[in-house]
This record gives sequence, C-alpha cells and structure tokens, in this order.
Amino acid sequence: MKDLGELTTHCIRCGFCLESCPTFTETASELESPRGRIYLVRSAVEGKLRWQEDVREHLDRCLGCRACETACPSGVEYGSILEMARHRIDTERPPIAKRLLLKSLTSPGALRMSLKLGSLLPGKRIPDAVSHLISGHSAEVNRPIPQQLAPYTTLDEADMPPVRGEVFLLEGCAMRVLFPRVHQATRILLRRVGFAVREAKQGCCGSMDIHNGNVDEGVRLARDLVSSMAGDLPVVVNSAGCGSTMRHYGDLFDGGAAFGDRVTDISEFLLENGLAGALQYSLGLPIAATYHDACHLAHAQKVWQAPRDLIRSIPQLRFEEMAEADTCCGSAGIYNVTQPELARALLERKWRNVEATGAAVVATGNPGCHAWIAQAAEEHGRAVRVFHTAELLEASFRGELPA
Ligand code: SF4
Ligand code: SF4
Repeated sequence: MKDLGELTTHCIRCGFCLESCPTFTETASELESPRGRIYLVRSAVEGKLRWQEDVREHLDRCLGCRACETACPSGVEYGSILEMARHRIDTERPPIAKRLLLKSLTSPGALRMSLKLGSLLPGKRIPDAVSHLISGHSAEVNRPIPQQLAPYTTLDEADMPPVRGEVFLLEGCAMRVLFPRVHQATRILLRRVGFAVREAKQGCCGSMDIHNGNVDEGVRLARDLVSSMAGDLPVVVNSAGCGSTMRHYGDLFDGGAAFGDRVTDISEFLLENGLAGALQYSLGLPIAATYHDACHLAHAQKVWQAPRDLIRSIPQLRFEEMAEADTCCGSAGIYNVTQPELARALLERKWRNVEATGAAVVATGNPGCHAWIAQAAEEHGRAVRVFHTAELLEASFRGELPA
C-alpha cells in the first residue's frame, strides 16, 4: 500500500503543473492548484492543518483530471494523493448526500428510474434531489436526458471475418443506461476485427466511488467484477474513467494487478487488431470531425494517439485538432453536480474550442464527457453532434451518421 505522506514528498514545488490545471487557470489561486493542494495534504498529514476545515474544500474543487501528472517532471502521483486524501477526509466524516448521489449514479436501476421520471417532466431533465442538497443550486444540476438514438441494425455474419479470439467487455453502470448504443457499436467493431465478446455478469467497476473517496465500497464492487471476469482474456473498456481505475486495481487489493494488466481501452484494442486497415475499405464520412480527450484516457491511461489514428483512417473525413483538446470539459464524474459554477465555466471554454474547429462532429471516449458536451451542443443550437469514438468509427462502415 502507498503511503500518503511519502507520496507528497515527491513534489519539489517547481510549479510546472500550474498552467495545466484547469481550476488554477480559472481561479488564479494557489490553493486551487496541484502544488497548493499537495502542500495542504502534506501539512494535514503532519498535523499542521485540519482535514475538514482547511483541506476538504480545496480537494472538493479539484476535478481529478490528472492533467498535472502529465505536466509534472518529478512523476508525482497526484491521482493517488487525491484519492487517498479524500478517503481520509470522508472516513473521518462520511458525506451522506455525496454517497447517496454516487449510489444513484452507479446503480442502473436507480438511474433508469431517474430517466423515466425526467422524461415526464417539462424540459426532460433528470431530477436529482440529492444534487440539490449537495450543491445548493437548482437549475444547474438537473441534467438533460441524453438523446437515445435507434439501436443498430444487426449485421450479416457472412460479411464478418472469422472469429479469432474472445474478449470481455465492461458494460458497467452509467454507460449501460445512458448510452447502450455505445456498447452495441463496440461489439460490432470488435466483431469487424474478428473478436467475439464472452458474456459475463456485469456491474459497476467501482471507479466512481474510488475517485470520490468512497474506497471501501469501490473495492467491493471491483472485487465482484474481477471474479466475474476471471481468466486471462483481454478486458475491453470503452469508458475512460472506468478503464483508468481498473488498470490500477493492483494499488487497491491483492490480485488486482494481474486483472489490471488485461485491461485495454477500445481504441487501443481496435488499432492493434487492424481496424485502421478495415476502415480504409469502409464507405467513409464526408465531414469534419474533432476529438476531445477524456482526462482519464489521456492523462490517467496515456491514450492519446490510438483514437486519433482510427478517426483519421475514416475515408473522406477531415480531422481538425482542437485547441486544449486534453483540458477537462468540467464533467469529471459528479463534479458538474457538486461544483456547478466551475464545471459550467469549463464547459463553455470547451465549447468555444469545439466551435473554433468548424467540425460538425466531436468524438470522445467517456460517457460523462459525452453527455456534458452534448448538453452544450444542445444549448448552442445543435450545429455540432457528439458521439463516442466507437459510434463515429461504426458510422464510417455504414456511410452515414445516425439520424
Ligand atoms: S510539477 Fe510536480 S513537482 Fe512541480 S509543483 Fe507540480 S506536482 Fe510538484
Ligand atoms: S487533477 Fe486536475 S484540477 Fe486537480 S490539481 Fe490536477 S490538474 Fe488541477
């Protein structure tokens, strides 16, 4: 097990991380920077500051985006520092409302019920009394219900290559309810490169709890998942937040490391197994598209290139790189509920960068970013559509974007 105090000693206070930190660039406050937060945690570990009164608020305002880790020349493990410090704080004084919120988002049954309720309400927004309780805001925390597109038509097996292997696919919790089509696209693309999905009992991977300090519950969920996907097959993940946690199960419990080594993001897996070549013979898409790096894919898993290489392989598509593509959009798990003002400022910043590319489509690899940026697209007149990378790639084989 890592030692929180020891981890903080790796920071040499050079400040190279400051400009990469969205909360620092928005607030210009040292206490909302990686360097400032590490200093606060270290001081609390040494007993010079109080966890609840002096530290909690500044950790709550951290997105957990880990852009600071990418920028840090000393290899400071900021993500681990944040998770361990949040665990320390929340164990001392459990935040009941936050835990209820986590439960409501990671339980497919509860999330489905919220969607059904929301679809009956004016404005079709997900009601969330818990969110109101946490943030003290009203309109901002009612999330719009993500648009549900028609399911894919099934493909003729005769058009597919022979099956050469099997994988597990994480269906998880929120993705399964909010964007079931992304799992469908993922299965079809895997089949296009010769892989079938071995079915397994599905559940939450624990990432949402682990990122938010509720480590015991997260580890319980993670252990269940590991036992349902036993063996040595690759575990394909299409949700960045989940993949980043699953790769590091070894930091949390015995037996987790071997499982983590099997985890791969869908974009990496498809690229390694020849989808770029297959795309060259697809119908293509005559559009301009851009890509938003989900923080937990780019900064936590260091997966930048694979999605871009795949998207660039789509015939007729013009790829437009976005400014600040790997800067957080403000979604960040439950952040857009608990810190609505900063989340909204970052969403508008992201949206300006999306619009500046002139692209008709923005692709991304995480359900939280997907829903949050789609909300901006909706509010700004629907000139740009938002898809998971897998949906965009599958659209190339069909020669059109989903209606
Ligand atoms: S870049 Fe790394 S070492 Fe430098 S201040 Fe930031 S966290 Fe500390
Ligand atoms: S995780 Fe993101 S928001 Fe938090 S300190 Fe690092 S760069 Fe800033």
